[in-house]
Amino acid sequence: MAGGLQSCQICGDFTLQIDGWSDLIPNYTLLHAEWQEDETFFDGMLHFSCLSGWEHRDAFLTEFRQIETGYGRVLSFEIEGTIHQVKQPGFHYNQQIHQGRDCDIFRHTSTDTWLVLTHQGPWYRLGAAQLDALANGRAARFPGGGHRTKLPPGISNAEVARMDLPELLERLGTTEHYPGLQDGSPEYEVWNYDDTHRILEYSVAVDLPLPEEAVEFLADYARTYEPIVYED
Ligand SMILES: [Zn+2]
Repeated sequence: MAGGLQSCQICGDFTLQIDGWSDLIPNYTLLHAEWQEDETFFDGMLHFSCLSGWEHRDAFLTEFRQIETGYGRVLSFEIEGTIHQVKQPGFHYNQQIHQGRDCDIFRHTSTDTWLVLTHQGPWYRLGAAQLDALANGRAARFPGGGHRTKLPPGISNAEVARMDLPELLERLGTTEHYPGLQDGSPEYEVWNYDDTHRILEYSVAVDLPLPEEAVEFLADYARTYEPIVYED
């Protein structure tokens, strides 16, 4: 089972956060791990490829969906005979716009962002730029952005500067958890690295591996939706 903060909570291997292939579940979301004997919360990194084949996938996805689409749910749980109630923080992807064979799609109620929840496990967040790309027959590309991670000991500044993304994943022993990544034409950039603290700041722009069903639905939807307008 998982060790450090950067370990996948399912397989225990290092997890480099790459949108479309892995994600972080922050502890404040209180994702209830009802499948664990002590019924604690799931928090930390996970590889989507691990989630897809996981025995607790469906229970995890049920919880995750409630958090993303059901802001402000009240949770009750029992610790040593006492019932505790907490209000679960959540997100506002409350408007379901598609229910399908492979995925469901939700719109955020106050911003032009969308969430694709696949039944296999992976999820994808999209903005207006990604919808515009789909409407024009292009891939929904995550544009990149800053992620931070702590690398394991023993990787020098010179090595980080020299390695491309496949080499880095290989060095971290985690290549197998990113199937199909190269098909998304990833563009990896090191923003900063310092081998005394081992903090890597990096960006990976990549085409998101959306299910075909989501691509088809959103390509049509993107031509017709009304953007949210804020009035003074
Ligand atoms: Zn994993």
